[in-house]
Amino acid sequence: MQTRGLYRKTWAEIDLGAIAHNVSFYREHISQDKELMAVVKANGYGHGAVPVAKEALAAGATWLGVALLEEALEIREAGIDAPILQFGYCAEEGVPIAQKYRITISFNDVEALQRALPYIDQDAPELLFHLKLDTGMGRMGLSGEGELNRFISDYQQAKNKKVNVKWQGVYTHFATADEHDLSYTNNQQKIFQDYLALVKKANILVPYIHDANSAATAIFPEIVTTNLVRVGISMYGLHPSMGMKESFPFPLKPALSLHTRLSHVKQAKEGAGISYGVTYKTEQESWIGTLPIGYADGWSRGLSNQSYALIQGRRVKQVGRICMDQCMLLLDQYYPRDEKVTLIGRQGDQEISIDEVAQLLGTINYEISCRLHPRVPRIYYKYGERLPF
Ligand SMILES: *Cc1c(COP(=O)(O)O)cnc(C)c1O
Repeated sequence: MQTRGLYRKTWAEIDLGAIAHNVSFYREHISQDKELMAVVKANGYGHGAVPVAKEALAAGATWLGVALLEEALEIREAGIDAPILQFGYCAEEGVPIAQKYRITISFNDVEALQRALPYIDQDAPELLFHLKLDTGMGRMGLSGEGELNRFISDYQQAKNKKVNVKWQGVYTHFATADEHDLSYTNNQQKIFQDYLALVKKANILVPYIHDANSAATAIFPEIVTTNLVRVGISMYGLHPSMGMKESFPFPLKPALSLHTRLSHVKQAKEGAGISYGVTYKTEQESWIGTLPIGYADGWSRGLSNQSYALIQGRRVKQVGRICMDQCMLLLDQYYPRDEKVTLIGRQGDQEISIDEVAQLLGTINYEISCRLHPRVPRIYYKYGERLPF
């Protein structure tokens, strides 16, 4: 029985029109010959992987990117058959599953092909992989010409033995493309070019070459050697860093907003203690409102006594410690129970952005949407109309 959101009025709204807008802007921004991968890992950065994937594909994306094979399977189960690249680690036991569901996996080190060989199903569709090269991120990927040459020769041997495997892509990932100083990124690009030259020299035709995330795609839309870009954060309408906000080449529309309703309203006397530890006491007689959302929903306890909420277009302060399932507001006047409260998003001319919340927590916008717990229902809209997901 699907009851989430029925008896507790806390929900996230996802504007799929914003996703379409952001993907279309990227599509226009990059050259015609490049394909666009919509990165929908971590449940679409908390927005819901399947609805976002469908919208992004309709708006011009041709690939999907995920972190886990499990995430790719969820997308296949939803009936989406666009190409999917799984980044990062995948256990060898996943190889025949990847083949069966035509999911491309990543090979991240020089042994990856050798380890996969015993698991490759010769009768299934061929195992598709993209080779990840470490050019300076220091996380995953082959590094050094020696490793790459060894991988190339292992692959050629496997092909000679008619192993059911296909090298479909080569890629790398940037560590600092969202920063003002691009010298580190430029150096990563140079190393990547040198590696690509080795692959080319071996006469292996690899169809996809890619390196750019949201930030790099915004800055370098025309890099000629690549033919695919991987766009995550900015598809959701968020800037890859605060520093890129001013210089971004096109306007982004944030897709996610977070709302709840007052669950309790009371008049508290002067000096009344609010919540665990009584970290806040009313300075005068005050209206205190309770909200049915807390840190178990992803509304971090670290926001206690420093965040804001919007009610009837006005900004009010959150007071006292944020509890597991609830938190309190210092209201500027009486409001009835069930009055709508916005924690992320717009009311009238007031707005609380994900960036504002991230800054209060000393983190980045990526983490704020990802951490929204599944118990917060996601409700989908497009151009003001509610969609039946
Ligand atoms: C998450 C991820 C991306 C997307 O990065 P954004 O900064 O969100 O655009 C691209 N490539 C890889 C390998 C990733 O893991």
